[in-house]
Amino acid sequence: MTDPLEKIQDEVLRHSLQMIRELMGSMERSRDLQDRIPGFKTQKGIYKPQNSNYALWVRQTSRGIYPDQDVTNLPDGSWLYRYTPEAKNGKTDMSLSTNNALLNSMDDRVPVGVFIQKKLPGSDRTYEVMGLAYVEEYDGKHFVMHGEPIEIENRPMTKSSITPFQPFETYRERLSESTTPIRQRAFQTAVRRVYHEKCSLCEIGFRFRGEPIGLEAAHIIPVSDRGTSIDIRNGILLCRNHHILFDSYLWTFDENFRVRVSSDRIFRESAANNHVLKAEGRKLANLPVEDYDLPAVKAIDYRLDLFEKNNS
Ligand SMILES: [Zn+2]
Repeated sequence: MTDPLEKIQDEVLRHSLQMIRELMGSMERSRDLQDRIPGFKTQKGIYKPQNSNYALWVRQTSRGIYPDQDVTNLPDGSWLYRYTPEAKNGKTDMSLSTNNALLNSMDDRVPVGVFIQKKLPGSDRTYEVMGLAYVEEYDGKHFVMHGEPIEIENRPMTKSSITPFQPFETYRERLSESTTPIRQRAFQTAVRRVYHEKCSLCEIGFRFRGEPIGLEAAHIIPVSDRGTSIDIRNGILLCRNHHILFDSYLWTFDENFRVRVSSDRIFRESAANNHVLKAEGRKLANLPVEDYDLPAVKAIDYRLDLFEKNNS
């Protein structure tokens, strides 16, 4: 298994795609992207570099003339997004060089960058860098784009890759040093997206200069027990406060997502003002919309065992 970007001959294109991948999940001001991403200053919609057969990126502006399409997040960290082709005189024209470049990207399995403009208070010129995606098909209305999964060597091959939950890492020793930080970032980003940038327990979520802060994707089966980092069903988004308490086995949740708190008397007294006691016995306040993105039962049960061992 190798990184699919390594197969791209065009060095300039490969480097540009690498750069977009490294920005995955970040919120960027338009003017910063203009400095760093080729074509961002002058081009809207689909950008095809002059000497390339392939598109480099697509972007969705919030004032775009095309209807916004929601992003669907899948458990492997990949996502689906439908992008409207460009039109001439109000009619879709697949012979336009930009649309054609995306069709070439599809045929040769070359990924493209995806940027989505976010409406944030006080700033309407911010983009979320979704990352790299493969054009899976053109369905006659939209390009169906499939984002890279957390494990980039496993580039998406099908439109709906909802695979069985894999609780444990089986090949960590084979991971190269260079892909590990990208994986960690991809896991954090994917979990953050499905939990709408809010703590699952207390629903706190902050943005500072456009970036979400103070939130962390926690592993349900701990990494120290080889818990998987390529499947978001082993993840939950928590604020720092509730992540620390979770990692200390002072609370957990059951298969119905009901909160359980340690019976340790000293802890409970010290936590009198903490939201965790108010949440006890209740269902987690913030969970993913799609059932297939919810924490896996195997992971929850594993965690419950650890919780009980640590509280007996
Ligand atoms: Zn919290």
